Amino acid sequence: MSRILIVEDESAIAELLSINLRHAGFDVTVAGDAEAAQAAVDRVLPDLVLLDWMLPGLTGLQLARRWRGDARTRELPVIMLTARADEADKIAGLDTGADDYLTKPFSAKELLARIRAVLRRKAPQALDTAVEVGNLLLDPASRRLTGQVDGEARELRIGPTEFKLLHFLMTHPERVHSRAQLLDRVWGDHVFIEERTVDVHVKRLREALSPAQASNLIETVRGAGYRLSAPVATAAAR
Ligand code: CA
Repeated sequence: MSRILIVEDESAIAELLSINLRHAGFDVTVAGDAEAAQAAVDRVLPDLVLLDWMLPGLTGLQLARRWRGDARTRELPVIMLTARADEADKIAGLDTGADDYLTKPFSAKELLARIRAVLRRKAPQALDTAVEVGNLLLDPASRRLTGQVDGEARELRIGPTEFKLLHFLMTHPERVHSRAQLLDRVWGDHVFIEERTVDVHVKRLREALSPAQASNLIETVRGAGYRLSAPVATAAAR
């Protein structure tokens, strides 16, 4: 389930957003100011943040700027919410690194459409779209993984954590992810789980992929972490 953090000091608006997002299947956390928002992000990295511009204390703009300057939160998808319709403010928000911008009041339908668009671009593992790499097809909606076994498409047995891990790797291929990053992005917790846990689940994941001869998709990058590398069919291979 995708995690959305709502940062909004007006409790009526926060409540309304929260109800709409929960109804759409998101796991929602609410923070009333920048400090509470920072504490929530330190605990669990959300898939997306709805960030109100006008907050007591640190503003949404300053908070977004701080997140962009920190390696852990640099890629965090952020949609700014504001009552300001001023073009200059909008530009300042996008310059700071907000991925999108919504001016209040907005409809629930518009909000959900913007959230999905930003997730598609920046956190595709947070969506239910099926992904294909090599001979593997992963469908988050039905929670099914299929692969080619002896020339036939077969469902592969895979545990829930390995499924989430594979989903993340398939939506972010050809990139090296450190164990800490995987804990953050897949487990949602980088502090209380030992990095060794990642190795245990990668081992299980490779075992789950072995009937489809796909274990070697998950590469260990020494001293760095793990990478999913898709096989490239070359004309030279014969
Ligand atoms: Ca506000």
